[in-house]
Amino acid sequence: MSVITSFSSHRRTDVLVLTPWLAPIVWNDTYNLAVLNAQFHQRNVCVGITIFATKKRKMKGNSRIYTVFVPTFIETGEKYFMVGHKVNYYVFTDRVSDIPIMEMAEGRQMRVLRVPTYQRWQDVSMRRMEMLRDYSHQRFRGEVDYLVCVDVDMRFSDEVGVEILSDLFGTLHPGMYGAKREHYTYERNPQSEAYIPFDEGDFYYAGGYFGGNIEEIYKLTNFCHDAMMADKDKNIEAVWHDESYLNKYFLYHKPTKVLSPEYLWYNGFGTPAFLRRKRFLAVWKNHQEIRN
Ligand code: UDP
Ligand code: MN
Repeated sequence: MSVITSFSSHRRTDVLVLTPWLAPIVWNDTYNLAVLNAQFHQRNVCVGITIFATKKRKMKGNSRIYTVFVPTFIETGEKYFMVGHKVNYYVFTDRVSDIPIMEMAEGRQMRVLRVPTYQRWQDVSMRRMEMLRDYSHQRFRGEVDYLVCVDVDMRFSDEVGVEILSDLFGTLHPGMYGAKREHYTYERNPQSEAYIPFDEGDFYYAGGYFGGNIEEIYKLTNFCHDAMMADKDKNIEAVWHDESYLNKYFLYHKPTKVLSPEYLWYNGFGTPAFLRRKRFLAVWKNHQEIRN
């Protein structure tokens, strides 16, 4: 089979497939997975995927906790995430005993990492940057080639493979797809480290899905954590927390690949024509119940 011939059916004209800095935007029908799989198998690549499932210590009543999302995440991951490749799932939690032992395919494993949690859900979300930075430095470097850093309140519902992997990648936020730049919910306070002026910004990236090689993730998370701490000293917290700082980072450190909303979707947004696959879906949760 000629790659070039088969590639003629792999093209899209209805969506943007390349950024102005020539990074691919990954959509269904823009790549050949068999070709990519062969490349990544040749390199014997191991992929780490990180999720956080913690809850503030003082809980009211019997409110649900984020660890409830872990089994579905892993089960669907085993079905769809990097099938045929080596994968380490890193589960960061303050409730190690709540994480069940789960069966994995060969070459794949789950690692449970005990971490502290925070009172406010905003802090839980933001402190992921600090923990990812520290673990990238101390541990991930020696264990995996790439990291995929995502929210836990999610399930895989179609293939997510090596086509996403690159030195540094971000994901288009499904809620902002097609919006005008001035409507992007970047941080607009010039005093904040996350500030982006109205006439800047390429895309609005989702806080709940980024990745890259360990060095790049170290740099990204280090920047975001330092910026959040600098703001904290000024009594500032960016409008969308870690997501705002991530968007600031990507503005000046452009991702080498961008994932389309196929890779992060909410069923509440329906099924627009450009969306040929829904690969990773938000699981419904009662925000009041689970966060407060
Ligand atoms: N998270 C957590 N415990 C909390 C709050 C948040 O573990 O008490 C983690 C969890 O991985 C979650 C992520 O932080 O997926 C982001 O929070 P959330 O998903 O609630 O934000 P949303 O997607 O609703 O904006
Ligand atoms: Mn989420």
